[in-house]
Amino acid sequence: MDIIFFGMQGAGKGTLGKAVAKKYNMQLFETGAELRRLSAESSELGHKVKSIIDAGHLVDNAVVMEIVENFVQNLKPGVSILFDGIPRKIEQANSLNTLLDKNGRKYRAVLINISRETALKRLTTRRICSVCKTVYPADYQNDACECGGELITRQDDNPQSIETRLKAFEEETLPAIELYKDNLIKIDGEPKIDEVEKTALEILNTVMNEPSN
Ligand SMILES: [Zn+2]
Repeated sequence: MDIIFFGMQGAGKGTLGKAVAKKYNMQLFETGAELRRLSAESSELGHKVKSIIDAGHLVDNAVVMEIVENFVQNLKPGVSILFDGIPRKIEQANSLNTLLDKNGRKYRAVLINISRETALKRLTTRRICSVCKTVYPADYQNDACECGGELITRQDDNPQSIETRLKAFEEETLPAIELYKDNLIKIDGEPKIDEVEKTALEILNTVMNEPSN
């Protein structure tokens, strides 16, 4: 069973996605990471991606779908995918669903649900390690990371940039999530991250044990 993971910025989607993928031996698909990996690869698709990035262009939806298709076809049999940060928009959700259907894959969408207030609070108060980039919530007491690095506020965690990101989620990603509403798994993302992780793993246990790909 593939999982399409949704959550507003600040919901802990990245951390939770990694935990879920690890527990169920899933392959994590994250567009940015996949672009970086491919552009260093000497394949036809790798060269294509590299030339788009080198030219300073954005990778359009058709190319993103080529990348997903390549990813799906290179998977070992029986391995599921966790999609993190994709689809961002309804157009992309439609093409992703078509692609997964065509490849005979089963999938469910999961939403880590938090209020806008919580998102704002978490994004404006979190800090990031200047060395290893680990993110720490506001209630982390030390001024240094576990690796010794200094904790700083991320440059794009300023009120204006946060507002832009939340708006993009509300205006573009929420309509995409609507497509999955009949079968959407909602997880309350308001509690502390380790509690949310426990709940998420419990809920997904049932889903992941359904007959899969
Ligand atoms: Zn660190």
